Amino acid sequence: MSEKYCCDRLLICPFFKAVKEAEQPLDVLNEYVHVYCCGPFKDKCYRVQYLHRHGEPPGDNIAPSGLDFRQYTSL
Ligand code: SF4
Repeated sequence: MSEKYCCDRLLICPFFKAVKEAEQPLDVLNEYVHVYCCGPFKDKCYRVQYLHRHGEPPGDNIAPSGLDFRQYTSL
């Protein structure tokens, strides 16, 4: 995956960091990275839209879909 085509916030994003640091990231989270962070939906990412709307990012637990992704990592 070339970071050239990824979201500008990739390297500072808590969601991306959590996926990369997970010992065995779930398929659904990897899929989010491919669809949102480095894919066609990066502009539709909830985290990006929230930042534009509120001037600050949402909680670190929020996925690009807008849902709490920790529910997947605590299984
Ligand atoms: S979760 Fe959103 S803000 Fe974070 S890197 Fe992916 S597309 Fe960018």
